[in-house]
Amino acid sequence: MRKLLATAATALLAACTSTTTPLPQQGSQPVAMRDTQSSVNAYYRVAARVEPVAESVCRSFHSNKPRNFCDFQVKVNTDPSEPPNAYQTIGRDGRPIITFNVNMLRSFRNDDEIAFVFGHEAGHQIARHIEQTQNNQLAGAVLGGILVAVGGGDAQVGVDIGGAIGGRSYSKKYELQADTIAAHIADRAGYNAAIGARTFERTRGSSALLATHPPSAQRLDQVARTIQVINSAKAQGGRAPVAW
Ligand SMILES: [Zn+2]
Repeated sequence: MRKLLATAATALLAACTSTTTPLPQQGSQPVAMRDTQSSVNAYYRVAARVEPVAESVCRSFHSNKPRNFCDFQVKVNTDPSEPPNAYQTIGRDGRPIITFNVNMLRSFRNDDEIAFVFGHEAGHQIARHIEQTQNNQLAGAVLGGILVAVGGGDAQVGVDIGGAIGGRSYSKKYELQADTIAAHIADRAGYNAAIGARTFERTRGSSALLATHPPSAQRLDQVARTIQVINSAKAQGGRAPVAW
């Protein structure tokens, strides 16, 4: 059992990321890749406006957490061989780190898309998804290991499969929650969330059991509904509270 728990703990450490992976180029609709320098400049320009908004939304929900919890660090992964990706991790000092790699940055069509994806990654921290995914994954790994071991099989196999299913059991729900938060953050930072969310038109979605991202149409729907809430509050002279 001790070995089982140790293995489960190792499995969950590897899962502290969320990804947004654009589809590869398609024959009739090639993705225009921008040059690296201007894409990186655009990222820092947008992050300078969006991070303070994300930080203040985060603090409004987590005033009881250490200050680092909402102090987003903005990073670029410059490895040109990595496929497009953006993810949120937690640094050793407890600060959330939002990292975009260069191929992701080069694939963006406008600042609204950068702002939306940044808000999405911040949304995972605000809704405490890493923490919750780790709990789900640990529960899945322990349960899977026990079930397989009781059945006389290799507990390691059960840990791996249980951990994978546990870790992803809520991930589609979490992605939609992060999208909802992203719409609020992008809008408050002065970007167009509807245009920003169109980045999903180029991203992979799936309804398979182990898929981590919901279908793009479902994500766009969710964002459209959130924008409606934001706009109707504005029409009444107010501001929609961030909710997910
Ligand atoms: Zn995500």
